[in-house]
Amino acid sequence: MTDRILRSVHSGDRFHWVGDGFYVTQLLPGGRELQEAADPFLLMDYHPVKDYPPTDRPRGVGAHPHRGFETVTLAFEGAVQHHDSTGGGGVIYPGDAQWMTAARGILHKEYHEPEWARQGGRFHMMQLWVNLPSADKMGDPGYQALTAESMGKVKLPGGGTVTLYAGELDGETGPARTHTPIELWDLQLAADETAELTVPDGHTLMLFVLDGHLDTVGGRIGREELGLFDRSGDRLRITAPETGARAVLLGGRPIGEPVVFYGPFAMTSEAEIVQAIEDFNAGTFGHLD
Ligand code: MN
Repeated sequence: MTDRILRSVHSGDRFHWVGDGFYVTQLLPGGRELQEAADPFLLMDYHPVKDYPPTDRPRGVGAHPHRGFETVTLAFEGAVQHHDSTGGGGVIYPGDAQWMTAARGILHKEYHEPEWARQGGRFHMMQLWVNLPSADKMGDPGYQALTAESMGKVKLPGGGTVTLYAGELDGETGPARTHTPIELWDLQLAADETAELTVPDGHTLMLFVLDGHLDTVGGRIGREELGLFDRSGDRLRITAPETGARAVLLGGRPIGEPVVFYGPFAMTSEAEIVQAIEDFNAGTFGHLD
């Protein structure tokens, strides 16, 4: 086995609001070098633990389009509701995830679930944009509701657990159907636990630390930092000193195609972006009140 080596550690930008419901720091795309290294992940917004007061008017973001990728929302605390132009919709609660395939185009709204908003409370989320290979960018939109009970679970010998949204570890698999191989795992390590995880050689690998900090080969990743690893190696060795740690692992086979990113569209050429804007303006993304 060959260990993965930590290459660089990144912090998010200044916290900002997406609509009036999502107070986030953006870890990806970051600079050009990180953008290429993060392939197939295009964007990562992190909403830290935050308390919202009760309200009868749920906070969120109104109807907006996406084309060319998938939006993946992980709920750690709180509840998020979604409606889209295909007639799809759903609510995700703690431990659940929403895996939405925008592909050729979707309009959707994202907001705090109204009953949860009436009570108010703690909210903690992450949203990822996962790229699609060019052959799938103009495919059908779709929606997968991934419930907490459906996730793969691996118990680690040191007492920790790995929850699998997507990908395979030790014979367990996550429920997400993906267009290219993706690993999306929630790692929870006990105090002073060391874990050795088998990971696919050649895949992109990043760790975002939610709680505590992690030591690995090549350095340390602190709380709310994103650690980027070299792509070679089939073993990830991590230790959670003192307090234990929780981290999200983002991995996947690089797509290796050009990315032209413009607002809510990610395509492989400028011409495809122009087409996306024209199609959106012509109403081909459907309709959503
Ligand atoms: Mn969206």
